[in-house]
Amino acid sequence: MKVVVVGGGIAGLGAAYELSLNPTNEVVLIESEGRLGGKILTETRDGKILEGGADAFLRRNPHGMKLAQELGISDQLTAPSAGSALLYSNGVLHPMPRELAMGIPTNPRVPLHTHSVGLGSRLRASAGILLGLKGDQETDSLGLLCQRRLGRGFTEGVVDPLIGGINAGSVYGSSISIMAPQLLEPLTARPKLPSRGRGQRMDGSNSKPSPIFASLPGGLAQLVTATAERAQTNGSEIVMGAKVSAIEPKGDGWLVHFERAGKTELIEADGVVLATPSYHAADLLRPIAKGAALKLSQIRYSSVAICSLALKDADYHLDHKISGVLIPKGQGFLTTAISISSSKWPSWASPDELLIRVSVGRFGDYRHLGIDDSDLVDLVGNEASSILGLKDSTELGHTKVFRWHNALAQFRPHHKELIEAVLLEISNAGLQNITLAGSYLSGSGVPSSLGSGRKAAAEIQLANKK
Ligand SMILES: Cc1cc2nc3c(=O)[nH]c(=O)nc-3n(C[C@H](O)[C@H](O)[C@H](O)COP(=O)(O)OP(=O)(O)OC[C@H]3O[C@@H](n4cnc5c(N)ncnc54)[C@H](O)[C@@H]3O)c2cc1C
Repeated sequence: MKVVVVGGGIAGLGAAYELSLNPTNEVVLIESEGRLGGKILTETRDGKILEGGADAFLRRNPHGMKLAQELGISDQLTAPSAGSALLYSNGVLHPMPRELAMGIPTNPRVPLHTHSVGLGSRLRASAGILLGLKGDQETDSLGLLCQRRLGRGFTEGVVDPLIGGINAGSVYGSSISIMAPQLLEPLTARPKLPSRGRGQRMDGSNSKPSPIFASLPGGLAQLVTATAERAQTNGSEIVMGAKVSAIEPKGDGWLVHFERAGKTELIEADGVVLATPSYHAADLLRPIAKGAALKLSQIRYSSVAICSLALKDADYHLDHKISGVLIPKGQGFLTTAISISSSKWPSWASPDELLIRVSVGRFGDYRHLGIDDSDLVDLVGNEASSILGLKDSTELGHTKVFRWHNALAQFRPHHKELIEAVLLEISNAGLQNITLAGSYLSGSGVPSSLGSGRKAAAEIQLANKK
């Protein structure tokens, strides 16, 4: 079967690789940019890694680990040296509560020790867990469920920066079944009597025997390159700098139009995997499956920027096990999170510098879009100094701003049903041998995106056999 994969992010590469495992397939991956990886962008600075997008993937989701094994690079996987995050509240840095099940406490003792929120909020959250307060069974809003169970103060001060922060969104705009399906049970059932150490930790602490996150010595781009190379070794063709402008059903297959160097080229295929953000997939589907395109257009994205700052003479005195700081909404900062790269990945920084990645932008907060790079660096540099308690004489060394426009899909309540409706519309339009992949489908992390690509590839082969 000949398949065109549209998009060379990790989802599209996962699809191309999966398809390439079957030697009877002919695979062509088309990427509009002059590089592969999409939201995975590793640069180097004096030979040291500089991640502009994703900097590590969760080991718990099997797709990243499985691919690394298949590619023979799992023995190179690295883990962050620091894993304990802090929460900022009103000028003070507090330890992240421990014993969280995906950001939610299930042990009533935990909120009592969470001093980043006030006493009333702590007592309310603890009582909610003890009483086994149920959320509204009809809602798919994680925020509403948490608010009912843990109270508003704890939900906004702790759960929101942890879970809402994953997609630079809000816990209130998050679907439980996508963002935290495993929470449905502990949240809606009366808890068993807790014991110390129950629950999965979401504070990133690596005092557990196995690390939570993984990367590679060459940064995450190494995963991108290794996947692309294996797909090519297996016979796939990868075309870069070529934007797919239309897909047209032709007989039992497809005619794919793409623009390269100012010219339109055509390629015939038996199947197409659309591995682009949903708004690009919507553009391509609009002429042939209007209903699907309309529904895909309902998916909203947040825009973020990652400001990488190398700070000299910073007088940094936080423990080197601290991996970063989360800043809840309402603290008066543009900054949403600070990742301490020099503690997490010491080899990325010179010994005399503090290397941080400052995140700005959330769903509904677009202030950073109106600020140019140099002003943004000054602004977040000052904010970081204030949050981390650095001395005034701290000097800015190397800086780089990575802008990610419409980058992180928001999984709003009933997102799963929306995706099911999109797939139904595609089928109702009579379109065959076309599948969707990408981070907007079922989770925005690298492993979920990768898994969506491999699944889309498996599905298209299955459909072709029928
Ligand atoms: C700042 C940031 C930090 C992140 N940090 C982490 C992290 O630490 N860990 C983690 O697990 N995840 C993280 N993520 C999420 C993760 O990186 C992404 O969700 C994932 O990489 C998306 O992969 P994708 O292939 O679905 O989409 P993309 O990476 O967006 O790839 C889609 C590709 O399709 C191409 N394309 C679009 N339209 C066309 C067309 N018409 N023709 C041809 N090509 C087209 C695009 O150019 C792009 O390369 C982060 C994301 C961001 C933005």
